[in-house]
Amino acid sequence: MGLPQVLEAMEAACRRAGRRPEEVRLVAVTKERSVEEIQEKVLRHGAFPLGESRVQEALRKMELLQAEWHLVGPLQRNKAKFAPRFALVHSLDSLRLAEALDRVGEKVGVRLRVLLEVNLGREPQKHGFLEEELPEALARVREMPHLEVLGLMTVPPMGPEAVVRPIFRRLSELADRFGLPERSMGMSEDFPIAIEEGATLVRVGRALFVD
Ligand SMILES: *Cc1c(COP(=O)(O)O)cnc(C)c1O
Repeated sequence: MGLPQVLEAMEAACRRAGRRPEEVRLVAVTKERSVEEIQEKVLRHGAFPLGESRVQEALRKMELLQAEWHLVGPLQRNKAKFAPRFALVHSLDSLRLAEALDRVGEKVGVRLRVLLEVNLGREPQKHGFLEEELPEALARVREMPHLEVLGLMTVPPMGPEAVVRPIFRRLSELADRFGLPERSMGMSEDFPIAIEEGATLVRVGRALFVD
């Protein structure tokens, strides 16, 4: 693949689902990629938002690349102070982290934009709120004046379409139910399915960098 092919596949998925291509944004996940690779494989094609999963790595790259940065991986509370460097944190996964981010937002005088991560596959090793915890967690985070919840995010279990599609569908249903516009779901293996099920942000890494 490569970025142009990913965009084509995104548009094809939109057509199949009767959606407009503008409804879905590509977040180019650049973890473990060098600045040169990112320039050549991503930024040459346009000013795409860049997603990183580790704060330190992101901070290093921010020095060298002008972009809209998203954090897609877990954020440790002791790194919460770096959250304002990201246009969107996809991975808000606990109320303690939310409280830490709210304090950071207050200190800096901004409202931090976040997505709540939902562990829909109920995998113990994965981050995120369990589905039954979501209503309460969302209500609490929505009361925090320095956080703005734009949507939900999920990382499904590895598996075939029969496993991932219902998970993506469920995330969209939950986002609808709670009136949240953004659904961050879909990676290299499954972003077309995620788009068919309502993704508004797809987080694609590997597929952008293969020749
Ligand atoms: C690495 C990563 C991605 C991208 O995965 P690919 O399989 O490389 O497309 C998406 N989301 C998160 C949270 C990641 O850590």
